[in-house]
Amino acid sequence: MRTAILPASFAVLIFIVGVTILNTQLWYSAQINSENGARLTMKNIEAILDEASTATHTAINIALQSCSAENQYRLGTEAALKPHLRTIAIVKEGKVWCSSLPGNRVLLQLDTLPETPLLLLTANQTTNHLPVLIYQADSTEGKVFVSISDAHIRDALNGYTFDAHYALVIDDNMLGVTGDITPRPQSRVNMSLLSSNLYPFSITYHLPVFFSPLRVMQQGSGLLFFIFIISCTVAYTLYKYANKYTTPEESLRKAIEHGDIVPFYQPIVNGVTGKIHGVEILARWKHEHIGIISPTYFIPVAEKVGLIIPLTTLLLDQVVRQINQIASKLPVGFHIGINISASHVNAPSFVADCLHFRERVQHNHLKLVLELTERERLQIDEQLIDNLNTLRRHGFFIALDDFGTGYSGLSYLHELNIDFIKIDQSFVSRIDSHKDSTMLLDCVLEMVQKLSLQIVAEGVETAGQREYLNRKNIALMQGYYFYKPLTFIELVIALLAQNHKEIIVD
Ligand code: C2E
Ligand code: CA
Ligand code: CA
Repeated sequence: MRTAILPASFAVLIFIVGVTILNTQLWYSAQINSENGARLTMKNIEAILDEASTATHTAINIALQSCSAENQYRLGTEAALKPHLRTIAIVKEGKVWCSSLPGNRVLLQLDTLPETPLLLLTANQTTNHLPVLIYQADSTEGKVFVSISDAHIRDALNGYTFDAHYALVIDDNMLGVTGDITPRPQSRVNMSLLSSNLYPFSITYHLPVFFSPLRVMQQGSGLLFFIFIISCTVAYTLYKYANKYTTPEESLRKAIEHGDIVPFYQPIVNGVTGKIHGVEILARWKHEHIGIISPTYFIPVAEKVGLIIPLTTLLLDQVVRQINQIASKLPVGFHIGINISASHVNAPSFVADCLHFRERVQHNHLKLVLELTERERLQIDEQLIDNLNTLRRHGFFIALDDFGTGYSGLSYLHELNIDFIKIDQSFVSRIDSHKDSTMLLDCVLEMVQKLSLQIVAEGVETAGQREYLNRKNIALMQGYYFYKPLTFIELVIALLAQNHKEIIVD
């Protein structure tokens, strides 16, 4: 879990940095687009005003002559042929002298208009209730007014970048893509202005917002997906790397959490008949890459880092589930040996843990044997003696494992109530090789038998060893000669194969 947090955080960081870079790039492009759009819009409006300017020259020329039918026709033609112009009118002494419309009419009150080269008139200032742009020019013979429809201006404003909301600004009035002419807003945050060098107008437009999820999704979806894939790949690689280099403690902790520590069962057999008398539970670590890992590697780690109690508890949970499936078929007194580490024996939860296991095993005809190893030094005090006696009263048996390998075996025998002795395989392995070396084994066996303790001989690998132990009346044996540690399924098959009901039980 902890090793997943770092790669996940790193992936999120890469994703955020990637999206920020992508967003900044798109924002920069959007800014350039808006600016280019403003320039293009300005050029289009300048082109419209160029038409008005040319028409003005014709009108000034006519003002020098007379408003004859022919000159009126010239004005009308000028307005009609220039695609963006609506009306051209010549005003002399405050009155319309000549116009492009028939009857020298105009749609505005021209004499009251302020004298500025460009003017925006609102809808209610015109007779057709449409906003209009007025171009004015002064000459000695009179004034010329050219009106330009709002529709042409709006077309020019609408052409480029929609998001920029371009608007034409003249003095303090503004004409946008929709609506009437409005005063230019006071707050100009996020707005920019581009002024024409040819005519007295400007184009105002919105600057793109810096962060826009919509823009990133619409314009950067391909790159966004790419960033996502990169983030996931980095996270996965980091996760793999972190897992590869985690400490043994961390790996073991994870293995316990994931239920990768599983029980194997090594049969304990009757040395004479070869029939299964019981089993010893041996832990195995099923590693997804390495395969099966021996307990000689991970049990010392678990003991050192304080994981032996959760490991044993979870192992016994699995044993309970498996043994309960076959318990009713097992004979009375079927031996189940459980290895208990010294640190667990001296822990406050020891008795409760064992009793909890006993309660869950559905059939109490099984012989539950706690194997305490002589290899580790036990802290023998009244509490421990009390605890072991309590457990014996609740039907547990106590075995002293690896007998003869440590130096306190005899004192354990003296101080604790022991039911079984497990003779270490180092004694058994000498049986064939050195005739003399069995002397020590013979002494040990004689002493143990005199104490009326039951014996299990471990590590029996040959027929010679079996025969020797049979001659010495050692009833119970364990070793590769009979069975290697088995999975639960293999154990069931082994039990079925030998019709376990015939097992001779003490
Ligand atoms: P152990 O309790 O003395 O278990 C017997 C060991 O001898 C087992 O090794 C078993 O596989 C091996 N063995 C059995 N027959 C033969 C044989 O004929 N020849 C040879 N060469 N070996 C044989 P394993 O399973 O590797 O376990 C090693 C030790 O790890 C165990 O020694 C025990 O001290 C410890 N251990 C295993 N499971 C647990 C557990 O669940 N809890 C604790 N606390 N310790 C465990
Ligand atoms: Ca053992
Ligand atoms: Ca042993």
